[in-house]
Amino acid sequence: MLFVVKMQSIILDGRKAREAFMPQLVEKVKAFSSVSGNVPTLAIIQVGARADSDSYVRAKKAFAERIGAAVKHMQADENISETDLIGIVRECNAEHDIQGIIVQLPLPAHIDKDAVIDAIDPKKDADGLTAANIRRWLGGEKDAIFPATARGVSEIMAHYGMKLFGKKVVVIGRSMLVGKPVAAMCLNEGATVTICHSKTADLADETKTADIIISAAGKPGLVGKEHVRRGQVIIDVGISKTADGKLVGDVDFDAVKDVIAAITPVPGGVGPMTVLALFENLLDL
Ligand code: NAP
Repeated sequence: MLFVVKMQSIILDGRKAREAFMPQLVEKVKAFSSVSGNVPTLAIIQVGARADSDSYVRAKKAFAERIGAAVKHMQADENISETDLIGIVRECNAEHDIQGIIVQLPLPAHIDKDAVIDAIDPKKDADGLTAANIRRWLGGEKDAIFPATARGVSEIMAHYGMKLFGKKVVVIGRSMLVGKPVAAMCLNEGATVTICHSKTADLADETKTADIIISAAGKPGLVGKEHVRRGQVIIDVGISKTADGKLVGDVDFDAVKDVIAAITPVPGGVGPMTVLALFENLLDL
């Protein structure tokens, strides 16, 4: 008689993983407050009122409240000049009660995002995106502040006992915010890394060679059955909104779920870990 065994992939649950990291973070917040007499405070500088940015800021504020930290949210007009925006960053640099600063991206097209980010004091750079901090994480310095998504990816994998050391990783996406820091994090942890992007000749050819696929393209359905093979781990960083308002990742979850070994869902995978990692960065600063 022939038995067909259907493999079930493990769901790497970011909400559950985050809870495991919470007690340690709450302890750090308490320790900071008792020594300094202040609440650890993250300044979020937002320009305009994009709906997606608004919802990310809301999530950060709600998380700060849960752990006993504070968010100082500054929302500038859509038409603010680059000079005035840099002025706000400098005020935050000078404010003793602010330990971390992030500029909510994306910024409007008339503003040079690199000029604004580089105005952040590297000692308050909670997103790890100033030139000084990029140099540190690219160089593999142990205490470098990594962009939160990369740190979140590293921590969800660590929570589920998955090691990057010696593994073949394919990262899809090469942005400075996600793809490149994720690739650098994997390299620093001893993986062999391939970075794919929109000009990659044959994506499936690359992804099939991986032990771990990390997709950060923001293209729903980009990774399908033809891109995967049995036993792989998939970290789906992409977040897109469908026409009916549903949040989806880059991976066609239903098409791959019975083939691969483990996968992060969207929502509820990397997203919650990214918010956690941002506040871990704040406490490290
Ligand atoms: P981005 O700046 O638009 O970068 C997207 C990258 O994907 C680019 O490098 C692009 O290649 C590549 N790409 C696009 N289409 C592709 C294709 N068909 N094949 C292969 N590569 C392709 O976006 P981002 O800021 O990096 O964000 C990426 C995704 O992650 C978005 O969905 C975003 O919402 C999400 N995100 C999630 C979290 C989280 O916590 N889960 C945090 C931040 C961002 P080129 O460089 O050639 O254009």
